[in-house]
Amino acid sequence: MAEIPDSHPRKASLMARQKMVDAASIGLLAESAMIAHGRGEAYDYLLGERTIESASLAISEAAARLSEAQNPVISVNGNTVVLAGDDLIRLAAIVGCPIEVNLYYRTDERIGGLLSLLDSQRESVASGGPPEGWSGNWRERVLSVPLLGSEPDGSISGLAGPRSLCCKDGIERADVILVPLEDGDRCEALISLGKQVLVVDLNPLSRTARNATVTIVDEVSRAAAELVNSALDPSRSTEWDNEQCLREALSVISDAGSLI
Ligand code: ATP
Ligand code: MG
Repeated sequence: MAEIPDSHPRKASLMARQKMVDAASIGLLAESAMIAHGRGEAYDYLLGERTIESASLAISEAAARLSEAQNPVISVNGNTVVLAGDDLIRLAAIVGCPIEVNLYYRTDERIGGLLSLLDSQRESVASGGPPEGWSGNWRERVLSVPLLGSEPDGSISGLAGPRSLCCKDGIERADVILVPLEDGDRCEALISLGKQVLVVDLNPLSRTARNATVTIVDEVSRAAAELVNSALDPSRSTEWDNEQCLREALSVISDAGSLI
């Protein structure tokens, strides 16, 4: 793709699109991935393509809950790995948790392809410098992040067929799960198993957004970068009101006319 000048107002969006196109062309994404991405873009436009205040609070809350969890896990799909894999590896290293590739439309080829992309992202994150505020052996810590998903030996009860497959050491035993861009059905199933489900979803009205324990209404790559910062210095609110958080996102959208 031709170089996009830094001054282009749609640069971040165009670059994200190109990442999606490139990933699709090597078979890393399900056919519906572009539709999901387009729906996300539309909401992001209405939010002003920035991290709104209520999303920043949700990010702090999610980072703190991950840090306090007994068995945290980060569950990723294709769009998430392609757009935010690097920062989610940083987050997993800081929190000390595995990353599980878990797909709605599961195929062994895509799981394998995404695990190898994550493996190369892990290598490059390990070779880069630690985030500011981190002390300790960064490289060793990053390389110790388990990448799960190739051999699902557990299940999410309440779901039928391949969608129920997961890993025992990942989603099955997790008490807190960060699952960006989850589907509504699976979010509900995970909640009814008593897990805390932390999601990133630009659509504050999706079933996922409404059912989750903590909903970060933000674009996944922006949210992942902020989650890294928050996990380095976690602080949790005493009471989390997720409905209020969704209402604030909706009110930003309904005030979008003020952007004109
Ligand atoms: P649900 O299943 O929760 O009712 P849905 O069926 O409408 O939602 P899905 O296709 O299951 O939607 O999931 C895609 C969701 O991910 C959409 O709500 C979309 O807004 C959101 N999304 C897409 N791309 C991004 C992104 N880059 N960052 C954050 N959210 C995104
Ligand atoms: Mg859905």
